Amino acid sequence: MKYEAVIGLEIHVQLNAATKMFCDCPNRPGDEPNRNTCPICLWLPGTLPKFSQEALEKAILACLGLNCTIQPDSAFDQKVYYYPDLPKGFQLSQHHKPLAKNGWIDILGEDDKVKRLRIHHIHMEEDVAKLVHETEGRTPISLVDFNRAGTPLIEIVSEPDMRSPYDAMEFVRALRAQLRYTGSSDCSMEQGTLRVDANISLRPLGTDELNTKVEVKNMNSIRNVGDAIAYEIVRQTECLERGEPIVLHTRLWDPDKCVTTAMRGKFSGPCIPDPSVPKIVVTDAWLKEMQSKLPEMPGQKAERFFKEYGLTPEEVSNMSQERDLSEFFEAVVNQNLSPRKAASWITTHLIPALRDHNQTIKETPLTPERFARLLSMLETDVINAHAAKEVLITLLSSDESPEEIVEKGRFRQVSDTAELEAFIDQILADHPTDVEDFRNGNAKVMGFLMGLAMKASQRKANPKLLKEILMKRLN
Ligand SMILES: [Zn+2]
Repeated sequence: MKYEAVIGLEIHVQLNAATKMFCDCPNRPGDEPNRNTCPICLWLPGTLPKFSQEALEKAILACLGLNCTIQPDSAFDQKVYYYPDLPKGFQLSQHHKPLAKNGWIDILGEDDKVKRLRIHHIHMEEDVAKLVHETEGRTPISLVDFNRAGTPLIEIVSEPDMRSPYDAMEFVRALRAQLRYTGSSDCSMEQGTLRVDANISLRPLGTDELNTKVEVKNMNSIRNVGDAIAYEIVRQTECLERGEPIVLHTRLWDPDKCVTTAMRGKFSGPCIPDPSVPKIVVTDAWLKEMQSKLPEMPGQKAERFFKEYGLTPEEVSNMSQERDLSEFFEAVVNQNLSPRKAASWITTHLIPALRDHNQTIKETPLTPERFARLLSMLETDVINAHAAKEVLITLLSSDESPEEIVEKGRFRQVSDTAELEAFIDQILADHPTDVEDFRNGNAKVMGFLMGLAMKASQRKANPKLLKEILMKRLN
């Protein structure tokens, strides 16, 4: 029998609000353990939560960025269970009345057609503490770090609209781009500010049944998400072919062994309305105000880049996917540079160089203004492309101006005809047989002689001029 996968994702996103969700402690889980705590987020008896307006606003922006309908009223519930990372015995979450419903994200499907993937709802919840498992001598011990306890999260629950690992990876990629644009989260899977759980089930191809699903956790990259789902589809297919029933449970992805292993039965405890946090009321006026705070989103920006700058569809997509990069690109173009040249240099040279130097576009000392000045020296033939690449690398670790670096490093392009003629005459004198070959019709020799002349100029020759002189001499 042929099977089809039915995949839904549950994605936890940590909001980058300054404080935790129900107290004034800093929202910095990575600090020295148990530093950022107070009686509220240590969940001591006799305290009451103070709901953070900033967390709510960041959550609303995130929901709007994912095309959801904000609910006029929503409320918190107590998700009741006891675990060492939740000693108060319940987690504040929105079970019955979530903040937002009915969103969607468009991806480009495997068939190159736009595919709309729906979001069932988005709710807010507080994070739990972090358990750190260590050994003391031979005794395994578990430590609890409360820095993360009470930090603000949203959970995005998709509809089971995905059919392949590809769909799921594209969904996460698009969702991450949208959320980063809203400024509500850094969405780093590596740092754990974006955590993806996948629910996977199989059904006979062509039916619309929803069968028992298995939950897979612990993927810390988009690639892991794809690999874990692909593995789980094969595992479940083999189970069904052996006649074994699929049981509802949770599995962990092991990125080293590339397998999923059974962890526990899937938890579902009772949820009861919480009496301590007032219900959230979103009026029409406030909703309008929040909508006006939403920045230009990737889709709109892509359309504008296409119209205003005449970029190709691929260049548009490269320049609009990440907000920081798109803003860098526009700042460069605003310095009167050709948009296509800027896009091409950013994609081909700047991004790989940043990766090599472990810098992000936001942190690099290379401002758009300095990058633009570098490109304009290239456009006006002050330096050639080879030198521009070298200056670019230097700019990543220096505060000097591009002009200073060019002067100091003697990168200035040699456009002096007499100087170039001297290089060429010397090379032609040193390679009489090659000159002969060229004159006998071997055009390839041209490239070889150009290379030698370029090298003789220490790669500073103006290539156009060099070629002109060489042609003249050879003919
Ligand atoms: Zn606190």
